[in-house]
This record gives sequence, structure tokens and C-alpha cells, in this order.
Amino acid sequence: MDIVEILNTMEYGPAPEDRGPADTWLESHKRTFGHFIDGKWSAVKGGAHFETCNPATGEVLASIAQGGDKAVGDAVRAARRAQPGWAALGGAGRARHLYALARLVQKHARILAVLETLDNGKPIRESRDIDVPLVARHFYHHAGWAQLIEDEFPAHRPLGVIGQIVPWNFPLLMLAWKIAPALAAGNTVVLKPAEYTPLTALRFAEICAEAGLPAGVVNIVTGDGRTGALLVENEAVDKIAFTGSTEVGRIIRQKTAGSGKKLSLELGGKSPFIVFDDADLDSAVEGVVDAIWFNQGQVCCAGSRLLIQEGVAARFTEKLKARMETLRVGDPLDKCTDIGAIVDARQLDGINEIVGRSVAQGARLWQPAAPCPSTGIFYPPTLLEDVTTSSIAAQEEIFGPVLAVMTFRTPEEAVALANNTRYGLAASVWSENINLALGVAPAIKAGSVWINSTNMFDAAVGFGGYRQSGFGREGGREGMAEYLRPEPIPSAPKAVRAKDAAGKTKPISGVKRSSVAGPSVDRTAKLYIGGKQVRPDGGYSRPVPGADGAVLAEVGEGNRKDIRNAVEAARKAAAWGTVSGHGRAQILYYIAENLSARADEFARRLQAMGAMDAAAAEREVADTLTRLFYYAAWADKFDGAVHTPPIRGLALAVNEPVGILALSCPDGAPLLGFVSMLAPAIAMGNRVVITPSARHPLSATDFYQVLETSDVPAGVVNIVTGDQDVLAETLAAHEQVDGMWYFGAPAGMADVERLSAGNMKRTWVLDAGDCNFSDRRFGLGRRFLDHGVEVKNIWVPFGE
Ligand code: NDP
Repeated sequence: MDIVEILNTMEYGPAPEDRGPADTWLESHKRTFGHFIDGKWSAVKGGAHFETCNPATGEVLASIAQGGDKAVGDAVRAARRAQPGWAALGGAGRARHLYALARLVQKHARILAVLETLDNGKPIRESRDIDVPLVARHFYHHAGWAQLIEDEFPAHRPLGVIGQIVPWNFPLLMLAWKIAPALAAGNTVVLKPAEYTPLTALRFAEICAEAGLPAGVVNIVTGDGRTGALLVENEAVDKIAFTGSTEVGRIIRQKTAGSGKKLSLELGGKSPFIVFDDADLDSAVEGVVDAIWFNQGQVCCAGSRLLIQEGVAARFTEKLKARMETLRVGDPLDKCTDIGAIVDARQLDGINEIVGRSVAQGARLWQPAAPCPSTGIFYPPTLLEDVTTSSIAAQEEIFGPVLAVMTFRTPEEAVALANNTRYGLAASVWSENINLALGVAPAIKAGSVWINSTNMFDAAVGFGGYRQSGFGREGGREGMAEYLRPEPIPSAPKAVRAKDAAGKTKPISGVKRSSVAGPSVDRTAKLYIGGKQVRPDGGYSRPVPGADGAVLAEVGEGNRKDIRNAVEAARKAAAWGTVSGHGRAQILYYIAENLSARADEFARRLQAMGAMDAAAAEREVADTLTRLFYYAAWADKFDGAVHTPPIRGLALAVNEPVGILALSCPDGAPLLGFVSMLAPAIAMGNRVVITPSARHPLSATDFYQVLETSDVPAGVVNIVTGDQDVLAETLAAHEQVDGMWYFGAPAGMADVERLSAGNMKRTWVLDAGDCNFSDRRFGLGRRFLDHGVEVKNIWVPFGE
């Protein structure tokens, strides 16, 4: 092409990145890799291997070991051996190592970017300017957390060995998101990269060695999903941190149920990109480019649903199509490429399949004129117009450069459409009206909301999902907490529920009336649902034993129908989540006042149930009052944070209620345990369905009257007595319950975790034997508030 032609067309020429150093590195390993375990490469001879390829050309880049039982076992053992020494280094010692890793990532930034692009197919501009700088930022930021950890997380300790499984879309960045906080907290790790993209993780292993990281602190085991499954099943692993599809996340939730492993899941999304009619349309068009064509749309939080206000829909799509015509699809190593290759032929098949089905369902397909390269795995930027709410294009993650377009008329409709998905990872809101944008942000169920921006990430700002986009956060303070556990508190005596051989709560038998019951007035406590005392659906009641073992009273035997009614009542009380912290505090103070007026009666009841002696009962009521005042005090103070990421703007970390919480109380401390769970949950704006101690339920049923006289709105607190473990199964499986705290028996803990996988509700399970509510180090504190909120980060860039 001569200069006149160039000036006439203004076409970009090719600007290829040099891949020489990456090839030299691959050759230095003879393009064959073992695992990196205990600071050494495992033997490459023998054993199963698979190939990793460049999706832009099909060339084989290297042969990679398929990790089996032995490799996973060796890696976990190496990590276990290394962990005490790593923790003993102390925060400052670990900070030096993390800082060295950050420095070396910067030093080797270019080869890491090139390897990432070769292996994954993403444009070099993205791997060079986004992925790798964010990796370095993550290690720097967490070097800081290591330094501060003893002060900022007192009375906490590392979990131990962490199994980490990452996907192929951001191979090195996801590695950094997982490894940096884990190491900062004093854990050691075994990480499995995705089968399609193992190379940067292997290069990172060498960086660990170069940084002088002690052997066994970071172990990399390669392989496909089977290797990941072995890591999940390994009993010596203390936590699994997973990023990937919701389907595999669900399998992992089920497999780890009852194992005691901590779990964080960062799963799929179908994020809305909302354009209001007063938006800066040209900026919003650029936003769409970043939202759905960044990394070929293979982004969990990709803005894959474009919701445009009707009045500007035609103009906006016209501008968007014009912009799409200019997007360059091609060689990922070319610095002028906008859209690179799809990671693998199987992924391309998946995209083709969903697009085909969407078109069959009536969506109109539009693609720009320029053809894709004829070799390699490419897919053009694509619009699907006339998409209906139930279309597969609106509901399923396509994970490709495909945008589903829909329109709306009002902000309310935009929010309804935005939330019309099982996911809740992210959202973008475009409007020049700050009141509108900041008004819509809290109404969208998503972990990140970007105002007039999209796909922004920073190590200081937590990232993670609501609903079926998973739980737990990566980055920020809340991300650090995922890798720590509180120091254990000595157990309370006799705090375990009576269990029969099948692991279910023992029914109480006998009809003899207790002599401690006072005058024999037969009163059967009902259930408390929707602000009313109601008879149990089944019409049955269960006897409650007194101190002498004979029957003291009876309470309703709640069943699955009662639970459904209670959840429905809680659903209708959604306005509680929007009551101000001050308003919620007032109600909690009122509850405390009304309980205080009846303190003697509650103490006597505790004694009569045989739960404790007179002195302990008085203490329990006094402690309960303190707890109510404590959480009332917190209701308007547990505020979240304002982050200052490296942009011109802020990220507002807002604590939002989880939603409907199911609370299953232990037998020990029947009143104090009940209130210690109830009070923080409602203080944070949750509505609760609570099943009190089956053995000593009368403190809870007496509490109805306190609630009734304290202006608690109907449906905010619902109490269902009965066999807690049977009720817990219904609650854990219920699609409209958003979270569950179960403090009970190990068999029940496993059931709750397994059944929660249906809608991926957040669970907090504790062995009742470890629940020492009378010890304030266990029974009160920020931990209960943390479990009562989801952190939403609202990004607000500013400036003209
Ligand atoms: P997966 O969820 O299958 O893979 C994520 C990681 O988990 C990979 O390392 C994978 O190994 C591993 N894995 C697979 N099966 C198991 C298992 N049973 N136990 C433990 N680990 C396992 O995602 P895919 O890569 O297959 O992508 C499929 C779809 O998932 C995409 O089309 C997309 O919709 C979604 N996805 C979402 C991501 C997100 O960030 N939210 C990221 C990636 C995908 P390996 O890849 O080696 O088989």
C-alpha cells in the first residue's frame, strides 16, 4: 500500500506484537510442562498430557500435564507443610513477598501479556493494558493488606490450604484475584488454571520461584474439570475459591456440603446495560463496546443485555451499528485489533447454538459487513434485536460478542427488566441525570453497578454476585475476610440439640403435666406469621418439656405449608429493606424496652423450661437486652465504605440487606441465641423466618407479644415452631429464601448446604456445640452484621 492509498483510506496498517520472548520461554521448557509443586516442576515424562492451542491460528503452543489424584494430593500436602511457616512469617514478612511478586509481574509484564494473548485469543491491547496491570495492582494492594492484617483483623487466623479453580477468560487476572488475598491472610494455595489457558499460571509459578517464595506456598496443578473436581473433593483442603459457570458452581456447592470447607463462588451473569433517554448517547455507545466486545464478550459481568429507553432506541441502535462497522476483528497480537479470537471451538459452537435458537425464537440478527478472518476461531460483533423477555438471548449467558437488545419506557420498567434474570453480577446505568442514575442503582440486584461506565475493576473494590451469580467477594476488605476465620471460642456446655440415630431432632414424649407449669391452663402457642398468631396448617402441636421432664406446654408443629406461608409473608414485607437505619433502630429499641418490662417473666420461663437455673436465666435476659441495644445502635451505623480506586471518581460500597433470611436457632441459650440471630438480621433490613430451639421454644413464642407491642411491621419477623431440621430442609430448598443461618447438628449443616444449591442462597452454618452465645466474643459483633448484608459497589466516575 503506498502513501496515497493510506491517506485515501486512512486504514490502519498491521502493528504486530513480537512473540519471540514468549516462544523462547516455551522452547526453554521444550513446550512441555509438568505441575509446579513444592517449588519444583514435576516430571514431564509419562502421564496424561493435553495440548493448549492458539485459538487465532490453531497452532499447538505446548503440551500440558493432566493432573490426577497423585498430583493433586502431592500439591495439597506440599501446601499443608508450607502453611505454618508461611503464617508464622507474620503480616509484614508476607507483605514483602507479595510486594516482590507485584514487582516481578511488572518486570515480566510484556511476556505475560503476550502469553495470555497467544493462549486465550484476547487482543494484546487488553492483556497488555488491562489484565496485567490489574494483576500487579492486586499484588501491591494485598501486600498492603498483609501488612495491616494483625491490626485490621484481630482475633482472626488463616484458614489453611486453599483450593482455587479459575476459568479461561482472564487466566492471570483471576489467578491474582485468588492468590493475592489468600497469601496475604497466611494461607497456602493449590491453583488449577483452566484447561484452555494454563500458560500464564505456569509462567507465574516461575515468578514465585524468582521472588523467593518459600516452596509449597503456591502450587499450580494443571488439568481439566476432572482435576478441579479432585481438588474440590480433597479432604485436606480448607476452602474452595471458584470462578466459572453457575452449573459447575452448583456442583461444587453440593460436593462441599457438610465438609466444613469454606466456599466462595464467582459465577455467571446476564448483566443489563441501561441507556436512559437523557444519556450522552455517544459515550454510551463506547460504553457498549467495552461492555460486550471487551474480551470477545467472554466476561462474566459483560453487559450482554442492552436496555434502551424507547424514545432514543432507534437513534442509539443506528449509532451503535455505525460504530460496530468500525470494529476490527482479527489477529489478537496486532495492536490495532479490537476483537480477538474465541477461546476454543467448543465455545464457538456454544455461541452459534444460542444465537441460532434466539433467531428461531424471533430475534433479528445484525452483524457488520466486514468478514471475520477465514482461519482461526472468530465470531463477529453481533446484535440480537426484538428480543423478548423469555428469549434464551435474554436469559442465558452466551459468553460471546453477542448483545441482546430490548427497550423500556419508564425507570420502573428498566429496573424490572434488569432484575428479570436468575443472575445478579453487575449492571451499567447511563443517564446525565445523577438523581435518576443513583436512584436506579440501589433497585438493581447486582454486586457492581457502574454509573456512566462499565467493566471497571480494582483491587480495593470488592467484586462478586447476588443471587445465582454466586457469593463471597473478591477484592477489598470483604475479599480479605473470605480467607480468614475467627479464633475459636470455647464451647458452651450442653449446647447441642438432642438427636436421634437418624440425626433428626428427638421428639419429646410424655403427657404428664409439669409441676413447674403453674396453674394448668391449656395454652398451645401458635405460629407467628405475617404479624399474626396462626394455627399450624397440619393442626398438630408438640409437647414442650419442663425442668422436671414432664410436659410444660405445647407449641404448634409447623410444616412445609407453614414455611411457605411465612416466606410469602416475608416477601410482602419487602419495604422493611428500605426503612432507614434510624427507623430500624427505633423499632429495635422499642423491642428492648418491651422485653425489659417483662424481664422477670422471661427469666422464669427459662427456668421453667429447665434451660438453666435462676441466676443464669437472669443473666440470659440481661444479655439479651444488651444485644438488642447493641444491634439497635448498629442499625444506622453499619454503613459500608467509600473507595477511591485509581479513576476520577469513587466507588460506593453499600451494605444492602440479603433479603429473606431463614434462621435456625440452636438449643443452648433459647432466648439469647434467638435474639442474637434475629436482632442483627432485622437491624440490617432483612426479613426473617426463624425456627426457634425445638427443645426450648417457649422463649420465642412468648416473644410474639413483645413483637406485637413494638411496631414491628407484619411479615418482618415470622416464627415457626416444630422439628427444626425438617423445617430447615424446606427453608434451604426454598427459591425465595435468599440466605440461611443454620446453627444446629452436623447432619443438618450438610443438608442445608446441599439444598441451598438450588438458588445458590448464602448459607452460614455452625455446629450448635460451637455456639456459645453467652460469650460475647462469639455471640455479638460485626460478624453477624456481615452475614446480614450483601456489599454492592456503585461506581461513580465524575468530571467532564
Ligand atoms: P466451567 O465452570 O466449566 O470452568 C471453570 C473452571 O472450573 C475451569 O478451570 C474448569 O476446568 C473447572 N471445572 C470444570 N468442571 C469442574 C468440576 N466438576 N469441578 C471442579 N472444577 C471444574 O466454565 P467453562 O470454562 O466450561 O465455560 C462454560 C461456561 O461457563 C461459559 O460458556 C460461560 O457461560 C461460563 N463461564 C463463566 C465464567 C465467569 O467468570 N463467571 C468464566 C468462565 C466460564 P477446565 O476449564 O479445565 O475444564
